[in-house]
Amino acid sequence: MRAAHTLTTDSFHDILHGVFGYTYFRAPQEDIIDHVAGGGDALVLMPTGGGKSLCYQIPAIARQRAGHGITVVISPLIALMHDQVGALHEAGVAADFLNSSLSGEAAYAVEQRMLRGEITLLYAAPERITTPRFLAQLDRLHEDGQLALFAIDEAHCVSQWGHDFRPEYRALTVLHERYASVPRMALTATADALTRADIVERLELQNARQFVSSFDRPNIRYQIVEKKEPTAQLLRFIEREHAGDAGIVYCQSRKRVEEVAALLVQHGHHALPYHAGLDAEVRMHNQNRFLRDEGVVMVATIAFGMGIDKPDVRFVAHLDMPKNIEGYYQETGRAGRDGAAADAWMCYGLQDVVNQRRMIDESPAGEDFKHIQRGKLDALLGLAEASDCRRVRLLSYFDDNSLSLAGSPQGAKAPAGHSEVHEVTSVGVRYSCGNCDNCIAPPQVWDGTDAARKLLSTIYRVQQHSGIGFGAGQIMDIVRGKKTEKVTQFGHETLSTFGVGALYTELQLRGVLRQLIAIGALNVNAQAFNTLQLTDASRAVLKGEVAVRLRESASNERGTGNAGRKAQRPTATARTALGELDAAAQQRFGSLKAWRAEVAREHNLPAYVIFHDATLIAIAQSAPQSMAELEGISGIGARKLEAYGAEVLRVIESH
Ligand code: ADP
Ligand code: ZN
Repeated sequence: MRAAHTLTTDSFHDILHGVFGYTYFRAPQEDIIDHVAGGGDALVLMPTGGGKSLCYQIPAIARQRAGHGITVVISPLIALMHDQVGALHEAGVAADFLNSSLSGEAAYAVEQRMLRGEITLLYAAPERITTPRFLAQLDRLHEDGQLALFAIDEAHCVSQWGHDFRPEYRALTVLHERYASVPRMALTATADALTRADIVERLELQNARQFVSSFDRPNIRYQIVEKKEPTAQLLRFIEREHAGDAGIVYCQSRKRVEEVAALLVQHGHHALPYHAGLDAEVRMHNQNRFLRDEGVVMVATIAFGMGIDKPDVRFVAHLDMPKNIEGYYQETGRAGRDGAAADAWMCYGLQDVVNQRRMIDESPAGEDFKHIQRGKLDALLGLAEASDCRRVRLLSYFDDNSLSLAGSPQGAKAPAGHSEVHEVTSVGVRYSCGNCDNCIAPPQVWDGTDAARKLLSTIYRVQQHSGIGFGAGQIMDIVRGKKTEKVTQFGHETLSTFGVGALYTELQLRGVLRQLIAIGALNVNAQAFNTLQLTDASRAVLKGEVAVRLRESASNERGTGNAGRKAQRPTATARTALGELDAAAQQRFGSLKAWRAEVAREHNLPAYVIFHDATLIAIAQSAPQSMAELEGISGIGARKLEAYGAEVLRVIESH
């Protein structure tokens, strides 16, 4: 081994191989590690599953070895610290955590170890860091030159524009003020331009180098379907594509969470509920089941998921629309951290738009704040209504131009992991990522301009006639010429537009209304029973100056596309590899999994912390006979080789 106590690229590679058992850095990791280990400040934006942890763990180990002392990791994820520290212990790294779950005695013991210089990485909650007691201890370490690095994880928590605002994060400026010479890095998986600027300002990272990775997650397949019977649609989706897989289903309300979890259980799925209304103990228990058992479906509100680093979540489903694209991207990003194929599935309908609008309108926030929230919601509506590549839309929202916009043939470059496919259409060249619903089966687009004009002029006439506005149901009934009780009650059958759209289905008109709301040509007034109101932008549509193009509703849920996929593409890479194993290797894999489950139970850790599936599959395939053969397999570092090598060889030999 080379001398590892210098802060050189070689030493970082040694740590990557020796401690974590990995062969290569992922593209941005090496630059980040080099910069931070060398004492620079950094802001790291990387998608979930990109590999942020190594970006501070390797500098921490390197700086410790070079005599710079401890790295303090600030994280709001108290419930996960135990497993994070456990994973480091498995790799042979001295780590500990300090949070409110520890007894006074246990916390004292950790503090003592810290002051004696025995800890490489300390995880702590932000409110702990800023206590006078802890600051006094940091002062002592600082005086001795034993503060190596501050890593601020989930840094978007500092911003009120982010969706996980934690006021405690604001107090972290103390780190900069008090320990100006200690390098600081902030890491997050979500940040649109606004949030990013806020992080820089709030954490005083103006001089930090920014590392912004592509936010693309090529292994995630995005699908947004029209909401019809949401729970039946969800069941179909899970049963067709993810039977037995671990997944997360997000719902808006606690009540809905309970109902959907019960329904899934009824249908034989291992589903559990999670929301802020449950006892802390029940929440903890359900989260542990999700992390430790295989194939659990967590049905949850957005209270669930931050920091969940379970690598083999195969799908994330949204039964209700989230507030904005950041939320959607963060939540869907929890799928497929292991890089194997995963699904992000959402069903969405007019009611979602109305509900989200109302929540913003009725919130006590100031007008400026509401204005921003509305803009963010509109961007999400645009994504849901899109008939072109979802991935391009998502990435361009984050100012990520690694995929270029549809219609620009020169710039249309496919990133790694995407097939470079361009389809020539009447509007030009269409970029295809090959892995979202719109690219796999481009939706039929129909011209909804005529229907839109009929709807808008009806809304206008109804307002003139009755002096009040009406909701979507009444307007559609008038346009379709339905003489309902409510229509005759208000004399709306006498309007000149009564029945002008008799040929349209309700589904089509609903789609048009949604689209009109999405493009701002129609407003839903939450203060007045969700009545529809014309806006300044309505005029252009009415005059026929703006064309309204819509996805064909009926073909929204493409059964054939999904069925075709099953044959072509198994759900997970792990399974693909598994499928390629011969019978003997399959058996070895089974035994290895059983062995891993036992070790994980003994250590009170999730199984993937011991070895990832991919590592077990590689072992099953190559059936190593010696420690030397075992050593080359990805995911087996020196410590794990020493701790488990002999047992793994025995399991293999027993076949
Ligand atoms: P993030 O925190 O960015 O969501 P993690 O740090 O949890 O991502 O990493 C995601 C997964 O990728 C983890 O299972 C981790 O072990 C693995 N990983 C990270 N870097 C590498 C690498 N260079 N080689 C192989 N696997 C890696
Ligand atoms: Zn696409």
